[in-house]
Amino acid sequence: MIPDTGIRYIRHTGTPSIFKAGWVIRDPWTILKNAGVAVADGCITDILETVPGHRHVTDCGPGILMPPLVNAHLHLELSALADRLPLGKGFEPWVAGLLREREVIGIPGLARAAKEAVLALQDQGTGLVGEISTLGITRSLLSDHGISGVWFREYLGSAFPDPVLVNECPLSVSVAGHAPHTTSPDLLVFLKACTRKNRLPFSIHVAESTAEMSFVAGNNSQWYDFLVQRGIDPATWPVGNKTPVMYLNDLGVLGPDTLAVHLLQVTDRDLDMLADTQTRICLCPRSNQNLHGRIPDIPAMLKRNLTPALGTDSLASCDSLSLFDEMAFVRQHCPGVPPADIFAMATKNAAMALGAADQYGTLDPGKRSEFIYLEPGAPSRDQVLEKVTCYGIR
Ligand SMILES: [Zn+2]
Repeated sequence: MIPDTGIRYIRHTGTPSIFKAGWVIRDPWTILKNAGVAVADGCITDILETVPGHRHVTDCGPGILMPPLVNAHLHLELSALADRLPLGKGFEPWVAGLLREREVIGIPGLARAAKEAVLALQDQGTGLVGEISTLGITRSLLSDHGISGVWFREYLGSAFPDPVLVNECPLSVSVAGHAPHTTSPDLLVFLKACTRKNRLPFSIHVAESTAEMSFVAGNNSQWYDFLVQRGIDPATWPVGNKTPVMYLNDLGVLGPDTLAVHLLQVTDRDLDMLADTQTRICLCPRSNQNLHGRIPDIPAMLKRNLTPALGTDSLASCDSLSLFDEMAFVRQHCPGVPPADIFAMATKNAAMALGAADQYGTLDPGKRSEFIYLEPGAPSRDQVLEKVTCYGIR
């Protein structure tokens, strides 16, 4: 049955079968007409350009069969804050509101709303996530409901935790630093070392707010005082005359397994540094627009062959956790970016960013037999990705 969203999530385990559809998107650059996906024992075994008449064939219909979408950055545990915070009035009032409302709602209320959000993920076409958890309440929700991905426990301040990291399918447990201006440099280096040892991705918000930019540049005494008031002494932090990307590079925490999130305010030199270090990047354009009134320079990133992933951030700063909505926003605001690149951001790039490209991101033999079927078809091959990337605008 196709839910109201027009998106059907298919997860096949067991006996060999073939799923057939009017269009099959194998990857952003390979679209097949009247094709099929052969599966067995939970894995894709073949992509069929012609589908034989066979009793094990399931004809999904004239629509589009494609890989599940991947949300590389979200905060499910902030779902209860939907419609409770001021948007478009600046970042500081939003942060103050978030801290206040989170207290008011309390852990049981946050957990209830997070569960509802988890239950909606597959109906929105999302199969893999990078969840950021500050309070630690969403890990079992994801595993109990069969959502794959990486659960990042996020740390701020300067106290060293004793994290237990787990590298396993379908849900790994890793750690994240909050941001360069909120997490001490020693702690960032420690957390990155933990992830390196366990071959897991490390995530961090980078170059998002003006407070962060000015603090790392050495010009924000107000933020300095704020940290001191919170019992964090930034006197030895190596800030001054640099950008957040340069700061993280100096600390040695950039690299292929680091996921730098936001990058809203970056220089050409920053982008070169991210490309040179092969750092993974993740963008949340709708959240950025709501909180900061601007979006990242996606064309400049693509020009450097960076491979941005997409994330939605949380319902506290965005009106849905749907990647279809995020792709549609990018399509509207960056008309020069080809639909294939936008689709790659929500599938292949995001799966790579979470270290799960061997299981998700494209429909290829050996990957998990999970896919989504989108009910509306497309009149021609070159309209398929146009249809998919605009599907959120309805
Ligand atoms: Zn975030």
